[in-house]
Amino acid sequence: MTTAPITGTWFDGRSAAGNPVALAIDGTTLAATLADGEARRWALRDVTVAEGFEHAPRMLRLDDEGVIEVTAGTGDLAVALRAAGVQDGPVVRMQRHRYAAVLGLVLCIAVGIFAYDAGLPAAARVAAEHVPPEVEQRIGAQLRDHADDMFLKPSRLPAERTASLDRRFAQLAAQAAPGVTYQVVWRRMYDLHAINAFTLPGGTIVMLDGLTDVASDDALVGVFAHELGHVVHRHTLRQMFQVAGIGGAVGLVFGDASATLTTVAAMVLTVGYSRDMEREADAFAATALKASGIPVEPLAEFLATMQAREDERGQVPQFLSTHPVSSERIDALRRAAGTAASVRPVAPP
Ligand SMILES: [Zn+2]
Repeated sequence: MTTAPITGTWFDGRSAAGNPVALAIDGTTLAATLADGEARRWALRDVTVAEGFEHAPRMLRLDDEGVIEVTAGTGDLAVALRAAGVQDGPVVRMQRHRYAAVLGLVLCIAVGIFAYDAGLPAAARVAAEHVPPEVEQRIGAQLRDHADDMFLKPSRLPAERTASLDRRFAQLAAQAAPGVTYQVVWRRMYDLHAINAFTLPGGTIVMLDGLTDVASDDALVGVFAHELGHVVHRHTLRQMFQVAGIGGAVGLVFGDASATLTTVAAMVLTVGYSRDMEREADAFAATALKASGIPVEPLAEFLATMQAREDERGQVPQFLSTHPVSSERIDALRRAAGTAASVRPVAPP
C-alpha cells in the first residue's frame, strides 16, 4: 500500500527561509529528509506536536531547532503519531468530547447571567476560576509557542547569571507561594533593550534581558514577586476573558483557539493589567519580599525609574504598557517598605 508523502517546511530559527522536508515517523523518532538529501532525526519525546486544527497546517516544535510546518499528509501524520504513542493535547481531546462541549455551553450561559448581574471583571474572575489548570497550562503553552515564533528571541544573558537569579526567585516562591506552579523563562526582543516582564496563563513568567540593564538584583526579585502575584491571582487569564468577552473566553477554552489566542494575547499585552490587578500584584510582592527578608524599596525605585523615563522622553517603556505605573503604586510600595513611615515624627516617651 502506498500513501501520499508527508511533507512540510522546516524553519530552523536561524534563517528566515524555510527548508522543504519530507517527513516520516520511524519508531520513536521523527525523520526528515531535506531537498539536498541530508537526513535529520529527532526523538519524538523532544518534539512538541501543536494542536491539530482543521484548516491550519500542523506545527511540530523541535527543542532548539525551530519548527516544522506540516503542509501535506497531516492525516497520515496524525495516524503515525498515534501509532507511535504520541497523545493529542487536552484541548483537542476535550473538543472531541461532547460532554465538554455541553459543559462549555452551560458555563457560558451561567457566566453570562452572572456578568449581567455583577459586571465583567467579576465574571472574568469566576470564569478563570472554572478553567481546569491543565487547560490553562495548555493555553499558556500555545501562547508561549506563538510568542517564541513571533516576537521573542532566546536570552543572551550568561546562563550562570539567569541561574543565580532563578535560584533567588525560587527561594522567594517557596516562601511566599508554596505549591504554586510557575516557570521563569528569560528572553529578549528584537529591540535588545526592551524592558519588560509578563505572565502567561498557567504560570509562565517571561523576563526580558533588558530588565537587567536597569534593575538591581533585589529589584529583579521584586519584579519577579510582582509577576508571581499575577500568577497567584490568575490575572492574565482573567484579563484575557475581559478582553475577549465571555463568549470569546469560552471559545478560548473549548474551541479552535489558535488565531483568537494570538489576537487576545496581543491585546492583553497592549492594554496591560487593570489598576486593581496591579495593586493586587504589588500587595502580593510586598508581602512576599518582606517574608523573605528582601527589601521592597528597590522594586519601588525601579518603578519610579520607569515612570521617570516616560516623563522625560514621552516614550513609554514596554514595562509601563503592560503594568501601568502610577505615583499611587510607588507610594503604596514605599509605605509597605516602611521608608515612607520613617518621616513620621515619633512621639516622645
Ligand atoms: Zn503587573
